[in-house]
This record gives sequence, structure tokens and C-alpha cells, in this order.
Amino acid sequence: MLNTKRLFASTQLPTLPSVAVKLLELAKNPETEIRQVIDAIKADPAISAKILKSANSTYFGFKSEIRAIERAVPLLGTTVSTTLALSFSLNDDTMSNGPLADHYRAYWMQSVVQASAAERLGQRLNPAAAPEFFLAGLLMDIGRLALLKAASREYVPVLESCQTDSLPLPETEDARLGVNHAAVGAQLMENWKLPDAIVQSVRCHHSTPAEMTALNNDNDYKLYAAIAAASAVGDYFCTDHKGRALERIRTFYTDHLGFPADTLEQYLQDCALRIEQAAGLFSVDMSDLGDPAELMVQANEQLVQLTLREHVASTQATYRHQEAEREKTALETQNRELQKQALYDPLTGMFNRNFFDESLDREIGRGQRLAAPVAVIYADIDNFKKINDTYGHQFGDHVLQRVAKVLQSASRNSDVLARYGGEEFVVLVSQPTEKGIERLAERIREKIAAESLEFEGTKVQVTCSLGTAIIIPGRKEQGIAKRLLAAADECLYDAKRGGRNQVRSQSLISELDRQVLHMVTNQRFSRWLVSQGLLDVPSVSRALLETPVQPARIGELAEMYGYLTTAQIAKIEDEQQTCGERFGAIAVRLGYLTLVQLVHLLTLQQENPRHLAARVMRMGLLAPDQAAQALEQYIATQVPEVRHVPSLRADSKALAFV
Ligand code: GH3
Ligand code: MG
Ligand code: MG
Repeated sequence: MLNTKRLFASTQLPTLPSVAVKLLELAKNPETEIRQVIDAIKADPAISAKILKSANSTYFGFKSEIRAIERAVPLLGTTVSTTLALSFSLNDDTMSNGPLADHYRAYWMQSVVQASAAERLGQRLNPAAAPEFFLAGLLMDIGRLALLKAASREYVPVLESCQTDSLPLPETEDARLGVNHAAVGAQLMENWKLPDAIVQSVRCHHSTPAEMTALNNDNDYKLYAAIAAASAVGDYFCTDHKGRALERIRTFYTDHLGFPADTLEQYLQDCALRIEQAAGLFSVDMSDLGDPAELMVQANEQLVQLTLREHVASTQATYRHQEAEREKTALETQNRELQKQALYDPLTGMFNRNFFDESLDREIGRGQRLAAPVAVIYADIDNFKKINDTYGHQFGDHVLQRVAKVLQSASRNSDVLARYGGEEFVVLVSQPTEKGIERLAERIREKIAAESLEFEGTKVQVTCSLGTAIIIPGRKEQGIAKRLLAAADECLYDAKRGGRNQVRSQSLISELDRQVLHMVTNQRFSRWLVSQGLLDVPSVSRALLETPVQPARIGELAEMYGYLTTAQIAKIEDEQQTCGERFGAIAVRLGYLTLVQLVHLLTLQQENPRHLAARVMRMGLLAPDQAAQALEQYIATQVPEVRHVPSLRADSKALAFV
């Protein structure tokens, strides 16, 4: 538990520079003249320069160049100028270096996202007050900054356990520290004498919807609800809990703020745009955030997956849980040791090769069942032998531990990371895409190269080379793991030959498979409903989440649609016994199904449009006749659409997933 008295007495707490203090004083006095604000800002040349630079950024979009602070302040307004002065003083240079840099960066990036999200809501609720919303949004997580600065020894383990075990932050803080960042932030802001409404909005930004409703007689209720919604937007853009965050945004956005549900997607797009502008304003790199359409798809799929798929993460969690259970029984100590040896690498605490190989086999099995891609990334430290020879083995070990940490921070909880050999690491990427794994590998490379390592005061540059490979496993294909790893290994050695500190990638997905995968994904009824403007992504996600999935067999579907006769099905099943190919591959080879028909069936198999239509209707998202009409239109358009892909030949052999 954290001693909060000591925390608030700490000299390490974030402080306000005198210009910000002065501005806050001035802001309280209704008699204040703009001249006084200008003078206060001019007293701090560094902050003046930054404000001037901001006034000319795309965030504010003023048409002509603003050259003097005297002109900038009246144009920006007092609150905006104060907010800028405050935020520049919170983001000091000491934060971008040192061991906590990643935590600071995560905090600051999320704060900028939250500020933008809050400002966009303020703009809709009360445009004149939008700067206050921005300020509250920017400061809501200041408790995180305070805890990082003044109690990092206690706080970093909390942040790390949230990351690895995918736990919600405020609850974990309460449980481990006895206080959470919302309460700490509110207290700090109260000490700074910030306006009550802003302090209260920060205090309750992680409240439950019911707790929020209880405050609905308060004058500033809309501000509180907007800050809570913006906090969820922060989680949506910056954390792995996208599905859950989307649910929370929707609740506050519609139930508490009263906006129509069908404007939510537009709102999130607005946010993405504003975040980009705000990133320029505060010079934050937001390239990790991803584009809004991709995020929606991710959140959408996550929501579905929450109920559908057995996730690698849950497997890992189960292992951890089992371990915790074992720990209770002293008698089983030895057993536990053995178990540990079987799973973990003792030096880095990462999974070991055994566990990785098992996970890969499991993932390939899943890929075979679902025709889903499986991908691995190999990372090998460059010239590691030289590092050992120059600085000693112990320092080499230290480098290995640091690289392991970087890998952990760059990947998602559901990825499986392992130390594969001496200085070779491997990542089994969950739900990979071709582009996604390349991006991840590049991020790892950059992060390792940027890591600051020192040996007795001299800087040691460590880099690594990476190779990636991705495949869609064939139904009965043998030796997939070996092929995939060999491909990644080949890329790794290409990267070494190419001069090290680089990424090389290879896709074992055939052009045909890639097209079919793409078509099947895009042809799903849920996508169609969105593309027709009948539903937005959040509504479709909810409907999908509540639609039971009982994947039909291709044969049954084919019979239902009149593509195959009973006799043809029997013949295909006979063949299947002997050759082990997928049902669809045989049907195409025998000329019973065209590829067009097969893609249609695969699409239906992934998502039953009738079930989805029924669910959409029952949830009141579409009126019954509207839903029925949509279904009819979708079915009518589906097959011709497939025909538009000209390069699909009836080459069933090349298809992994029929
Ligand atoms: P390249 O850039 O081609 O990968 O060159 P390299 O020097 O990194 O590769 P090489 O395979 O020649 O050397 C790997 C070295 O890693 C040799 C071995 O002594 C060292 N090593 C392996 N395991 C450990 C370990 O656990 N701790 C330390 N300190 N060194 C290790
Ligand atoms: Mg927060
Ligand atoms: Mg090496």
C-alpha cells in the first residue's frame, strides 16, 4: 500500500511553473484583461515561443501566420493559452529519456488522445467551453504522471502487471496501492487550485455508468460524463482493451450525453483527425495508433472474439493461474520448479523454446481449422559475440534481459514471446496480417536500436536483425511449423547479409489465398450492412457478439443452396477419406463447385446472415421489414460480386483454405 501523505509531500511531484500559476490566478478573476495574460506569458520566453509555434499549427487552423504573442493570445483565448502553458510545462525533456521513458510516453500519448476526444465532445455540447473540456481531458491522467514521478518503485510494477495480465488500471491501482490515479490527480489539481468542475471531472473519470448517473443533478454533469467518455476513447486508441473500451464509450456517449448511437462512428473519426492535429501541436509521435477504420475492425473483431475464440492470452493466463495455485501448496515446490523449467527461460523470464514450439503447434492447428493465418518473427542480436568479448559475459546477459524487455513492451499480451536460442528471440503473433507483422518487426527493431545501454559510462549500441514469415496452414499439410520457421530464418539471414539492423519478410500465403481471404472477409453480411450505411460498426459488433456461431459444414451449405446433390456430397466425402484434402478443394477439383460458389459458401460459413439479420431485428437496430429487405438484397448481390475478381482460377490445389 502506498503512503499517500508521503506521496503528496514528495518533491518529485509534477509542479507548475510560475507562469502557469500566474495564468490560473488571472483566469479566476473576471476583471482580468487580455494584456495581463499576455504579460504573464511573455515573462517566460520558452513557453511564449512554444505557444506561438502552436498558434501556427494545423490544430488551430488560422489562415495567416501569427508572428507575435500579442496577437496569438487574443486569437487563442485565455483558457487555451493557459492550457498550452500548463501542458508544455508538464511534458519536460527529462521524461523522454531514462528507464521510465516508455511509461511517460504512454501516459503522454494517451493524455493527448483524451484531450482531443474531450474537446470534440465539448465542441458538440457547448462550443464556448470546448477549451475547458480539452484541459480536463489533458489533465485527467495527471495522477499517473504524479505516481510515476514520485513513487515509481511502487507504481511501475502495477503498470507492468496491467500490461502483461491485461488488467484494468484503476482497479489494479486500488488493489495494490490503496489509491488510484484519478484520486491522486484530483488531489493534486485541488492543491493547484484548479476550477472545481475540472477537479471533479478528473476524480470520476473511471466511475461506473451507475456512479455517473448518480451525479446527474450536478451542474457540470455533462463535463463529467464527457471526460469519462474521453477516458474510454483513450483506452480505445491506446490500449489492448479496444472491445471493452468501445462498449464504455457507447454507454457514456448515448446514455449519459444523449447523442444518437448512429453518430458514434463519425465521432470516433473526428477524434482520430483531431488527435493527429493535437499530435502536431505537442510534437508527439502517434504513428503507433493505427488508422481509424483498422481500429474499428480490430475492436469489432475483439468483441466477437471475447466470446468466440479461445485466445492464446487465456492459455497464458491459465498457466499463470495454475502456477499461482501451485504456489499455495508448499509440498508441490519441486513440481513447480519442474513446471517452471518446462515453460520459462530463467535469464529473461520469457517463455522458452519448448513452450513456444507447443504454442506454435496449437496455433497451427487452430489455423488449419479456421483457415486463419499464423505468423512468426525471429529476432537475433547483431554481433553479440563481439559484445560479450568486449564487455564480458555478464554485460551480455544484461543486454539479453534488456532486449527481452523491449520485445515485451513492443508486442501485445496475446503474442507469445520466447527466447529461442542464445541471443535469438521469437514472437508468435496473434491474429496476424501481412502488413501488421512487418510493422511489428520494424517497431521492435527501432525500439532496440533506440535503447540506451551503457557499460561503465560508455554508450553501447545494440541492434538486431529480424525475419518474419506468415502462412495459412493447409488442412492436412504436414511440417508447417518447420516451413514457417525456415522461412523466417531465411529472412533473418537475408537481413544479416544485407548489413544487419533491418527487417526482411516473406509471405507464404499464395496470391490466390490472399484474394479469397480478402473476398471472404469483405463479403460478410456484417460488412455489407456497414457499407450500405444501414448500421454503424459498433452496432454491428454488438449484434455479432450476441449472434451464436455454429459453423455449418460446407457440404450442408452447398446442399442448402442447391450447389451440390446428395450423391456428389457422398462422392466427395469418400475421396476425403483417402486423400485428406479439404472438402471444398475436392469439390472444385471434381468440377462440382465453381470457385465463385466456394467463396460464397466460405463467406456463409464464417457468418450466418440469417442469424445476424434476426439478431439485428431483435435488438431493434433495424425494423423487421428493413432487416428482411437487407437480407434479401445482400443475398441477391453476393454471388455476382464474387465474379468481379477476374484472376480467380479453379486452381484448387493452390488454395489452403478450401
Ligand atoms: P550475428 O550478427 O551474425 O548474429 O553475430 P553474433 O556475434 O551475434 O552471432 P554468433 O552466433 O557468432 O554469436 C552468438 C554469441 O552469443 C556466442 C555466445 O557465446 C553468445 N551467447 C549465447 N548465449 C548467451 C548467454 O546466455 N549469455 C551471454 N552473455 N552470451 C551468450
Ligand atoms: Mg485514467
Ligand atoms: Mg547474433
